Amino acid sequence: MTRLSHDQDTSGTRRGACPALSAPMQTGDGLLARVALTDAITPAELVGLCRLAREHGNGMMDISARGNLQIRGLTASSASLLDADVRALGLPLREGLAVETPPFAGLDETEIADPRPLAEAIRSGARTIVGLAPKMTVIVDGGGQLRHAELLADIRLLAHATPNGVRWTVLLGGIEATAGVLDVVDDTTAVKMTLETLRQLAAAGEFARGRDLAAVLPKHEAAAPSPSPFATYRLSDKLWAVGIGPAYGQAEAGRLLELSATAARLGLRTLRPALNHSLIFFGSGQACEALASIAENNGFITRPNDPRSFIAACPGSPSCTAGSIDTHALSHIAIEELGDVLDGSFTLHVTGCPKGCAHPRAAELVLCGTADGVAFVAGKASDHAFGSTAERDARTSLNRIAALVRAERRKNETTTACIARLGQSRLALCLTSGRP
Ligand code: SF4
Repeated sequence: MTRLSHDQDTSGTRRGACPALSAPMQTGDGLLARVALTDAITPAELVGLCRLAREHGNGMMDISARGNLQIRGLTASSASLLDADVRALGLPLREGLAVETPPFAGLDETEIADPRPLAEAIRSGARTIVGLAPKMTVIVDGGGQLRHAELLADIRLLAHATPNGVRWTVLLGGIEATAGVLDVVDDTTAVKMTLETLRQLAAAGEFARGRDLAAVLPKHEAAAPSPSPFATYRLSDKLWAVGIGPAYGQAEAGRLLELSATAARLGLRTLRPALNHSLIFFGSGQACEALASIAENNGFITRPNDPRSFIAACPGSPSCTAGSIDTHALSHIAIEELGDVLDGSFTLHVTGCPKGCAHPRAAELVLCGTADGVAFVAGKASDHAFGSTAERDARTSLNRIAALVRAERRKNETTTACIARLGQSRLALCLTSGRP
């Protein structure tokens, strides 16, 4: 079932349909191919992918919020060469339905249950189900140190320990905190219930999603949010993990290649692209610490309090033709102007257009590119804006919001709580008047 147990042979070619790889998407800098993996790969395999990104694409790579690798700047002919060359690497490519497990699945001593057998049974059972929405996603979460609580899922299985053994809460729609509870069941029933729900959604048509069935269900009482992947984690006596990420989830392939080569030299044996645009490397505690130190010196995110990790930014202009603003430049300005206001209590969503690819759900503050400049939104990127400004004036507007929060924030109050208390009308007034 699991391809790598951190010391297995990784040779062999895997064939089969990987729609994300075979059907690249058009973006502003050419076609983008997604490499979705179901298991860890070796640093040498990531080096191979980085070389292919340079050879066939424009040399830029993304790690998506869900932990998929993306290769940018392809043409129609180079995309098909990439497809063949990636398959030749023999990676554990995802085929069919997205059934995701957290990055430490099966490796973390604190996990309540290993979610991989259930995930594999669902993948296998879903192969015969046709007509599902293209982005249909199932998450199987065994409850370890890093969880997928903030990622959207159509169906989510969540392990919890009971006096009678492990039970799985079956949740539909949303993130963990907003999902509806379908039932609490044992392993076998959880798989059956998931497959039955998938069949029901397939029968309802390719636009049917788990959230459509969740409205009548009781809401789940969510546990504390999952911590940041940008830290070092002890998984067992012999295994540690370290999360490292490029700023805003995007890097030149040569930088990722260097990082992977360094990881291999340090003896780190495997890695997984993971949530929040991270790469998680597995190995000894000493090797993890050494890699984090080298990565930090090379500009990667390695700490949970790095302000860049509090920002979800899509590639924006000029990488994406739909983008009206340079999202990465605006993110740098936001870090400079917001400073301590960017306290980690919320995600600042910086998006090139209202599609909101980098953060498809609501955020406390969204800076959204429009034909006229930058719209300020509280909610989803496509929601009504409470203010707007020309792109050249965005620094001034961010400075005004920072001054307002600093003036109004109560002792021990987070920025999230402060913004919610002030409300959109106060934020709008501050933007137009310039007075906190
Ligand atoms: S949100 Fe808009 S600008 Fe950003 S990547 Fe998606 S489509 Fe492009």
